[in-house]
Amino acid sequence: MADTAAPKPGSTTDEIPIEAPLYEKRRQLFVQSVKGRYRSIKWAVLVLTLGVYYLLPFVRWDRGPNAPDQAVLIDFPARRFYFFFIEIWPQEVYYLTGLLVLAAFVLFLMNALAGRVWCGYLCPQTVWTDLFLAVERFFEGDRRERTKLYQGRWTGNRIARTGGKHFVWLMIAWWTGGAWVLYFADAPTLVWQLATLQAPLIAYIWIGILTFTTYALAGFLREQVCTYMCPWPRIQAALTDEHALNVTYKVDRGEPRVSLKKSVALRETGEKVGDCVDCNQCVAVCPTGVDIRDGLQLGCVQCGLCIDACNNVMDKIGRPQGLIGYDSEYNLERRLAGEPEEKPKIVRARTILYVVLILGISAFMAFHLATRSTLDVAALHDRNPLFVQLSDGSIRNAYTVRLANKALEERVFTLSLDGLPAGFVEAVGAENVSAQSLSVAVGPARTRELRVLVTVPRGTDGPASREIVFTLAAPEGESAFVRDHFMMPAN
Ligand code: SF4
Ligand code: SF4
Repeated sequence: MADTAAPKPGSTTDEIPIEAPLYEKRRQLFVQSVKGRYRSIKWAVLVLTLGVYYLLPFVRWDRGPNAPDQAVLIDFPARRFYFFFIEIWPQEVYYLTGLLVLAAFVLFLMNALAGRVWCGYLCPQTVWTDLFLAVERFFEGDRRERTKLYQGRWTGNRIARTGGKHFVWLMIAWWTGGAWVLYFADAPTLVWQLATLQAPLIAYIWIGILTFTTYALAGFLREQVCTYMCPWPRIQAALTDEHALNVTYKVDRGEPRVSLKKSVALRETGEKVGDCVDCNQCVAVCPTGVDIRDGLQLGCVQCGLCIDACNNVMDKIGRPQGLIGYDSEYNLERRLAGEPEEKPKIVRARTILYVVLILGISAFMAFHLATRSTLDVAALHDRNPLFVQLSDGSIRNAYTVRLANKALEERVFTLSLDGLPAGFVEAVGAENVSAQSLSVAVGPARTRELRVLVTVPRGTDGPASREIVFTLAAPEGESAFVRDHFMMPAN
């Protein structure tokens, strides 16, 4: 894959002039609107993704009387993440790791099938930039009108139009930051608190940060983020192969490119002429300013808008659509070698591997979620002292034991101890104590920390350290356990 200063087709890197600058000054882009299949898909994705982002915090999900009813909520004070019927506790953060691994493989699969389809259609940078471009067009006009506006002097008309654009941009950016904080608290309550200036300071700070970043990234940095700041183009360039479908200029069909007038004349004389009429429409609509006719480039986010633009041109000049289209390097090379192209090879080793990994990880996570325990126990032995000898000669070890009740009603658990020939367990604050177990009530969706003391009577034989097991049992029979050690002086 070439860099943004890519050589023309057919040239080699040796032909790049030695004085080519390492840094190219940014060109201001005046992007032209376009209509077509890929533009429609992009609008649909934009409406869907932004709709989900802005409205999801207001979706309710009934979890019973002891839990919040917001469908998606990151509840920092209670240390919980709620996602519809799923509730993740801090000690289950491995689900998040699983989701990230899953997302990575989905991205790899997308890349193996259709190149940077994520970048062109789904990436937040692309979606918000598209929205900001639409606002820009609304206030300042399409490419030609906007170019003229920017070449002219600052007049009242220009100030009003540019001012209106920045005002709407800031409103969108502000609402983007506002929507983000709604995922961290009850959305309707927080909206009211924000409106009446009673929200926590941290909410205003985050809204400010996200307003600024959205305004800067989608309004000003735009394609610079994709070309220079984002690592994904470099990673995906290393992951792709010759069968991946990428937005490609079909050089075998387009070259030699000549103007429309010339092409008509040359065709009449029977001379070979390409279908590209050098109209530059594909470049004018490109949101990153790339000329796809120079080959695959890091700057190309594979949005497909140049396909729409070129198809429209082909329709007008009566040539078949598809001069620019999704194509594989493999087929391009076959055609250049005069061989017939083959059907896109979707099923191949890497796509099968990604699908197997995605299905395997999804199934494992779903099974784990469906069968996960509704209680948990963790123990931490006191480090200093490891044990104490009481006045009657008995030996005592102390532990901090944390019990978790993930059910939405209060439950009385039994905490029992195994691994000692004799002895008893007691806990500060526990309801009752028997020889080797005690009962502890834990509130709905709560944890409870206990100071647990385990004592063995004088004369108990055994090694200096022996393994013990704390078992936590719920009334319905479900249980969890944790291993630790009981320490005593060596005999
Ligand atoms: S839009 Fe099509 S015909 Fe026009 S310059 Fe681009 S590739 Fe050539
Ligand atoms: S070259 Fe075509 S596909 Fe690539 S970013 Fe530009 S318009 Fe999108």
